[in-house]
Amino acid sequence: MKSKGQTCSFCGRKKEEAIMLISGLEGHICDQCAEQAHQIVSKELGLEDKAIAPDKKKSKETSIGAITNLPTPAEIKEHLDQYVIGQDEAKKTLSIAVYNHYKRIQHKNDHHEVELEKSNVLILGETGTGKTLLAKTLAKLLNVPFCIADATVLTEAGYVGEDVESILSRLLQVANYKPELAERGIVYVDEVDKISRKSDNPSITRDVSGEGVQQGLLKILEGTVANVAPEGGRKHPDQKYVKIDTTNILFICGGAFDGIEKIIGRRLQNHAVGFKRNDSREINTKNLLSQISPADLKSFGLIPEIIGRLPIIASLQPLDKEALKNILTKPKNALLKQYQYLFELEDVALTFDDDTIDFIVDLSFENKLGARGLRGICEAVLKKYMFEIPSNDKKKKSLRITRKMAEDEWNAIQDLKYA
Ligand code: ADP
Repeated sequence: MKSKGQTCSFCGRKKEEAIMLISGLEGHICDQCAEQAHQIVSKELGLEDKAIAPDKKKSKETSIGAITNLPTPAEIKEHLDQYVIGQDEAKKTLSIAVYNHYKRIQHKNDHHEVELEKSNVLILGETGTGKTLLAKTLAKLLNVPFCIADATVLTEAGYVGEDVESILSRLLQVANYKPELAERGIVYVDEVDKISRKSDNPSITRDVSGEGVQQGLLKILEGTVANVAPEGGRKHPDQKYVKIDTTNILFICGGAFDGIEKIIGRRLQNHAVGFKRNDSREINTKNLLSQISPADLKSFGLIPEIIGRLPIIASLQPLDKEALKNILTKPKNALLKQYQYLFELEDVALTFDDDTIDFIVDLSFENKLGARGLRGICEAVLKKYMFEIPSNDKKKKSLRITRKMAEDEWNAIQDLKYA
């Protein structure tokens, strides 16, 4: 058979456009169509969930990133609802962004005159409001490689520290060193607000904050073919590199952007003054974050090119007491459900009184610990029982945590801290 001009007999993709082309007696099939065929067979045999790929470990490697059965934005949101409390607007924004992103990849070889541009996402919100959780939950649903990178440890090439490509080597590791899988993954870049230009940089060997890092990040956000050291770490001349094309990697950048409300408020105020006569609407000062504009991000110190590459902005709300209570009890893997499961493994039915839950929530809220604080408080409250129960022969079959018990355990630990 001639090797030149070979195309997939199913989708017409050229050999150069496919990762591989498998030859049959009469024709060829490309990797993507083979993958799709596999999905169809699995689905017909009832072996597969509705998702980009099945959530089952066994078939994970072969089907990861094969974009078939893409869930709709509504289905994506429904899935997020099971794990992430509140943040409705952000969930919708993200669901649409992720759907469009993978739709774009699905149709990138359509040769349509309109080319769909890649759109990465920026999530803003106080720490502990669910930014990482959202990104992680999305990647899990889509069964694509996912990694978290911290922008603050990134440095400009040539400085001591991790360079921007190290993000990609982590993604490659998660993708079992298969570049074609990594190239469809999701990367969550945390703390992008910390690399804004205005940040002070007292160190001379580490350009941890500043334009250099932003420029490096910009390259991979835009889409570039990067030379990645598979084992991570610093690059050295003899090392073998793997080429990773970042064009189809979805970057979700997150940050608290402390103080940006002031910038937004000031802009809205100026705007309102300028238009005072025509516009009698009051400025909504309560939810400033949701009114963010690219100009505010520029004033905060992000370079315009980065802002241009993060056209989709989702802002998260601070968590109130009700949200904290829901986080503790409602999601599929809610914290209290996790402890109940842990105790169930010891044959103990664990329950919490309602006012015990209120105690935990109030403590976390008042100490401004947010959702992150809930686990620490639960650990403290249950420590004694988690220590005793596994070695107790005459195990209790049930354990009810009253508010008094919770308060006593919490106070005992505080006493130790401040003794
Ligand atoms: P950050 O916004 O700082 O990235 P995370 O997503 O890491 O916050 O959240 C910290 C912890 O708090 C997570 O383990 C998660 O369980 C919990 N959490 C935070 N926000 C929510 C939320 N909206 N719904 C459910 N759990 C949440």
